[in-house]
Amino acid sequence: LSEMLEHEQDLPSTTPDNHEMVLMVNTGLAVDTVASLKSRIGGVGLYRTEVPFMITERFPGEQEQTRLYRDQLSSFAPLPVVMRTLDIGGDKDLPYFPIEEANPFLGWRGIRVTLDHPEVLMVQLRAMLKASQGLNNLQILLPMVTTIDEVDDALKLIDRAIIELGEEGGAVERPRIGVMLEVPATLYQLAALARRVDFFSVGSNDLTQYLLAVDRNNPRVADLYDSCHPAVLSALQRLATESAQLGVPASVCGELAGDPAGALLLMGMGFDTLSMNAPSLPRVRAAIRRVTYQAATQLVEETLMLESPTAIRRHLAERMQEWQ
Ligand code: PEP
Ligand code: MG
Repeated sequence: LSEMLEHEQDLPSTTPDNHEMVLMVNTGLAVDTVASLKSRIGGVGLYRTEVPFMITERFPGEQEQTRLYRDQLSSFAPLPVVMRTLDIGGDKDLPYFPIEEANPFLGWRGIRVTLDHPEVLMVQLRAMLKASQGLNNLQILLPMVTTIDEVDDALKLIDRAIIELGEEGGAVERPRIGVMLEVPATLYQLAALARRVDFFSVGSNDLTQYLLAVDRNNPRVADLYDSCHPAVLSALQRLATESAQLGVPASVCGELAGDPAGALLLMGMGFDTLSMNAPSLPRVRAAIRRVTYQAATQLVEETLMLESPTAIRRHLAERMQEWQ
């Protein structure tokens, strides 16, 4: 089977009824192995910048970060690379920047930290923009957005970084800027977000955790953590539909996108870009090449009528079996 999947990897991720999907990869470290996939993907849908920060002894400086980002951008150019600003807090702690809180996932995380430390964010933004000079394939993604003010504040810093670099003699293009949809509050603010940014990226991992009030890393409640919970699927459907109505491209970069059944559901909902860990690509591509878009929309319809995660999982398993 795996040989067969491997054989298919240079073929397009298009359904039998000609619906084209864009498959992207999530990266953090080790750019070279993933870069070998360049001809098979649409780019990097999520570069988690906190990953390289986790193996240094202090915040990497502007030069060091520029080198790191240039490496990512040039490895995939001209394909787009979506760089997410530092998403620390929650479970991702930097040894040199300890955060101690009773409820880390509800606390100082993602953009909340970087807006409180604009000096950290500015170094990162300047490095990203500098790294993109001459390549222009950078897109910037803001994590853990809850409130419109956060977006406005971050946009101001991005503009300031662009102006600074221009004044220093290195004019840079304004990259496309997006927000993560992963805090449930964003579900109700899509129009306001759409007026400010160029794209949405749905983080199904955190969206699941926050919609269901289940810590994504707590084994005691792991049974309850399920992106196929009817509430999560219904939220995802709504995000796909409303983003399309608003004319904002929306992709999904959480684990659900790397699961073949999950990917088919997301395709049927109307998401046409999925970003996943590289090892998930072959099975997701194979599923897309075997199942029509029409069947995927049908699958979504059937699934959204079911009332429990168990019923949904059972139904998905049956359909996937038929489609093998
Ligand atoms: C997510 O929350 O779904 C996501 C992609 O980001 P992370 O897993 O890094 O929180
Ligand atoms: Mg997240």
